Amino acid sequence: MEIKDITFAYQDKIKRLHHVNATIQKGEITTILGPNGSGKSTLMGVLTNNNQPQAGQIIFEGKGLHQYKPKELAKKLGVVHQKNIAPSDMTVEKLVYYGRLPYRNTFSPQTKEDAEIVEWALTCTGLLEKRDVPLVTLSGGQQQRAWIAMALAQKTPFLFLDEPTSNLDIYFQYEILELVKRLRDEQGLTIVMVLHDINQAIQYSDTIIAMKQGEIIKTGKPEEIMTTALIHEIYGVDVVIKHDEAVGMYIVPIGI
Ligand code: ADP
Ligand code: MG
Repeated sequence: MEIKDITFAYQDKIKRLHHVNATIQKGEITTILGPNGSGKSTLMGVLTNNNQPQAGQIIFEGKGLHQYKPKELAKKLGVVHQKNIAPSDMTVEKLVYYGRLPYRNTFSPQTKEDAEIVEWALTCTGLLEKRDVPLVTLSGGQQQRAWIAMALAQKTPFLFLDEPTSNLDIYFQYEILELVKRLRDEQGLTIVMVLHDINQAIQYSDTIIAMKQGEIIKTGKPEEIMTTALIHEIYGVDVVIKHDEAVGMYIVPIGI
């Protein structure tokens, strides 16, 4: 997926993305980092055809993203937004079945394949026991996992996760990150996500896109681009960089 010179504004006409260029490599985990309001979700919206850029384009598998029919795109790009709202009577399993919609005609019944894939998505996200429970009665983290399960059920080669670890306790943060890694390694998925934790981004990403005020400041492999200078430029925070034999490079914030 090629991001070519994207400029984007919402209705208010204020430019939120300025000449953004990058490449999303197939089979990689790409993480978008940047402070609140820097345009991470806006960029995700452009990459998933929810935001139409005023200039530039996204080239996906040889053609412009805007040229795809919605159903065709729904078989290729799975998205979990930062905020998700479901009707109060929606059960976990019903939500996950929504992920199968791109594969069905309006009145066609569920197939055995649909059932198997839903089962797989519930298993991957540890929600088998919660399948009949209304979504709204779950904890924030469990709800987050249910939305991820829905996106998994879509069986898309590309998965976009906007802050998938927010609201989760540290155990489930790592459970999601390990799931993301497994999806890359075992299913060959391409994953683009937004994270806030710099160390998690370093640990789990093949490529990092570092944003500030609607611009990409730097993109590349974590070990190569995550310098004290870059982190200071992006977040205004001073850090020291350490190395550990087991985990490799990590940062320790020391102040502002
Ligand atoms: P991030 O995800 O990095 O926190 P966003 O992409 O959500 O940032 O927001 C980037 C900028 O665009 C912010 O200034 C935000 O206020 C603005 N913005 C986000 N969504 C909208 C919208 N629907 N309409 C107008 N402005 C928006
Ligand atoms: Mg956001």
